[in-house]
Amino acid sequence: MVSVQEATSIILSNLFQPKTSKVSLNECLGKILAEPILADRDFPPFDRATMDGIALAFDSYKQGQTNFKIESIQAAGEFQKKLNSNSGCIEIMTGATLPEGTDTIISYEQLEITKEHATIVTKQVVKGQNIHLQGSDVKKDQLLLKVGTLISPSEIALLASIGKTSVLVFSAPKFVIISTGNELVDIDQIPLPFQIRKSNSYALQAALAELGIASQLLHLPDNQDQLQIDIKQALLDFDVLLLSGGVSKGKFDFVPSVLESLGVHKLFHQVSQKPGKPMWAGSLGNKFVFALPGNPVSTFSCFHRYVKPWLLRSMGTKPITSKAILSKSFSFKGDLTYFLQVKLANIEGYLMAEPIVGGGSGDFVSLKEVDGFLELPRDKSEFKMGEAYLLVSFRA
Ligand code: AMP
Ligand code: MG
Repeated sequence: MVSVQEATSIILSNLFQPKTSKVSLNECLGKILAEPILADRDFPPFDRATMDGIALAFDSYKQGQTNFKIESIQAAGEFQKKLNSNSGCIEIMTGATLPEGTDTIISYEQLEITKEHATIVTKQVVKGQNIHLQGSDVKKDQLLLKVGTLISPSEIALLASIGKTSVLVFSAPKFVIISTGNELVDIDQIPLPFQIRKSNSYALQAALAELGIASQLLHLPDNQDQLQIDIKQALLDFDVLLLSGGVSKGKFDFVPSVLESLGVHKLFHQVSQKPGKPMWAGSLGNKFVFALPGNPVSTFSCFHRYVKPWLLRSMGTKPITSKAILSKSFSFKGDLTYFLQVKLANIEGYLMAEPIVGGGSGDFVSLKEVDGFLELPRDKSEFKMGEAYLLVSFRA
């Protein structure tokens, strides 16, 4: 048996080595960047007007001039124009390049304009105002996005501005979700009184889908020979096997022995945690197996606590950790890390976690109210209202 911290560090030092692939810009949302992205030119690429108004030479204004002859108009998308006389000005539109010979822009709101002249009606003119200077955001060749960045709509905007039509991203591992148990039937079946539907498989598949990862489903009976044959094949066909059930101490819990007999190297078996104590993890080269206990809440908790961060780290990104504050005191006396199911509420900017007790780890029905769990450390038994603990969220 290992502690939660040991299990975490073992898993995180055994990461999947992903392949990479080029995908087009419109397909890379939600994927993780596998190449550094550099600025292809300065940003902004030219001294850019941020207001509609006039561009002038500040020195003339400084010497007391307030009335300027309009020489021409500099529109956005035009080549740079030139101010001929220091006592003149050029009308300029937002997004246009600053005309040569000018250094300051005054907005229409601060002008009185006739067809040929602009008169400044404010005293507050600052040299260089209303200009977004070339390279003031980033310089050409500067790093814009690093490897491991999750591509969200803002990154798409950046990639588009530097003209990236295709992007190198990490390819997710191929997942198979394997449910085990003779009591399980498919979801379109009417279960006999002693049977249940295999909800875990769908919960795991959806949790992976939230991460943009497709997966296949497989069901195996509690039969050692059958498990041996099908898991062997799954190890050939897939990168990650996500099993649920068959890892406890029951007479028909064959999963750990079958995996070990197939040469899968055990990373750990059993974690001092509740729920999810019987969890098993192993690897075979760049293939990984997570055998989660079958109780639906255990399966779900172990996925979020171990598999999801492992996957994100493997893809080069760092999962975000956060804490939430207990809104009611809670006590747990076992010598185990306790995963306390909670409902979250943001109250006045504080993330409050209300314990949802009652549902055992077999009770999937209780999950409908639950947003995640607080990880309550093993070396304490009293957890007071107002204390903050690590939050593992079930919601994206
Ligand atoms: P096990 O880990 O195989 O001992 O299973 C523990 C409990 O979880 C049993 O009550 C199983 O019926 C239940 N269980 C196992 N696999 C699933 C599944 N895929 N969906 C729902 N419940 C399951
Ligand atoms: Mg079972």
